[in-house]
Amino acid sequence: MARFSGGVHPAGCKRTAGGGIGVCPAPARVYLPLARHIGRPALPVVEAGRRVRRGELVAAADGRLSANVYTSVAGVVTGVVTHIEGSGKKAPHVLIENDFSDESVQLAPLAERTPESVLARIAEAGIVGMGGAGFPTAVKLDAGGRVDVLVVNGAECEPYITCDDSLMRAYTGELVQGIRLAMLACGARRAVVGIEKNKPQAIAALQVFCGQDIEVRPLRTRYPQGAEKQLIYGCTGRVVPEGKLPADAGVVVVNVHTALSIYKAVEENEPCSSRVMTVSGGACARPQDLWVPNGTPLRDLAEHCGGREDCARIVLGGPMMGEPVFSLKVCTGKTTSCLLFLDKSECRERPVGPCIGCGRCVQACPMGLMPVFIEEALFAKDLDGAARFGAPACIACGCCSYVCPAARQLAPSVKLAKKLLRERKI
Ligand code: SF4
Ligand code: SF4
Repeated sequence: MARFSGGVHPAGCKRTAGGGIGVCPAPARVYLPLARHIGRPALPVVEAGRRVRRGELVAAADGRLSANVYTSVAGVVTGVVTHIEGSGKKAPHVLIENDFSDESVQLAPLAERTPESVLARIAEAGIVGMGGAGFPTAVKLDAGGRVDVLVVNGAECEPYITCDDSLMRAYTGELVQGIRLAMLACGARRAVVGIEKNKPQAIAALQVFCGQDIEVRPLRTRYPQGAEKQLIYGCTGRVVPEGKLPADAGVVVVNVHTALSIYKAVEENEPCSSRVMTVSGGACARPQDLWVPNGTPLRDLAEHCGGREDCARIVLGGPMMGEPVFSLKVCTGKTTSCLLFLDKSECRERPVGPCIGCGRCVQACPMGLMPVFIEEALFAKDLDGAARFGAPACIACGCCSYVCPAARQLAPSVKLAKKLLRERKI
């Protein structure tokens, strides 16, 4: 098995592992985010006062990298509002008051399964990378015949998060069908599903369903095994050169939840309007994986799962790559995989000290960068130096900060250097 260098082995803390998938009750109102994909915000196609059914289009993609948005509840549109995001910034959302009728509508059935019709359906259903990237899946899969292997990301290497594990066990047959549809769409002859070895049930379940065209590849449990380049290397032995795309190495990667959404869009005519999330942490009374309607305020999830608002830290995403959230008014969306309520013992609050030159950050970086020197260059306003030490290749995995005995915030520094370099280029 090809192994990437660097990485770390944090405690798993997967306290929701092995459980089923619950259902979050539909909230009284949903704020459907219009900008949780990488392209321009979707353009609203509904106005205040309009009655909508669950599964109805409320905002249309504005350009190739944008994505359609569908309502997750039936009710009445209050309007298009600016609402807080996890970053603290405000962004447009469609606000809908739930009438609890649960009246629903579906996409029209597909007459045939061709690469073109499946790609069109994936775009129509508003599917984006549900592992967190938010890249429109139809654009990714439309690789122009350059791809021979589809890599399916079931690694789920972040601590606490188990939603993909639960999904692989609960929807194994549907997931395999979704993988075959993704293979049809991108022209891949085979698929490799990469799963960390700490999910033996998911590995065994998929091995039963997969045929010769789909291989299940157990991977060593090491963070960030699920990062794109590390996963491709672990599953195929191929290296994606710096500055190139996976398609340049003949590979395209989709997350398991994305593959399940493809199945639902094509075979069940369901657009992407809800997803499975993990809600967990030491300050959460009822940690669980559960289906959550898109646009659900985090406060509703906290009440349902017993998450304490006065805990030490609330994090959207995993503890390594997630972002702290400061308001439970923030709402879930297509890329929201996890909400953590962490108590004091789970947060490493250490005073930042001077670098002692131990080199651990360099050893831990899975991209082979020099985080300590990038930080020094950033502080010296030497962007060329930051570029020389590799800042543009940073994948924001957080390994460097995790291992630093001086508690230096290396990952945010490298991320900032990368952002400044990108802005300077533009
Ligand atoms: S420099 Fe970037 S890629 Fe390297 S360990 Fe730090 S966050 Fe990860
Ligand atoms: S891990 Fe921390 S203390 Fe060690 S070299 Fe890197 S920045 Fe310095």
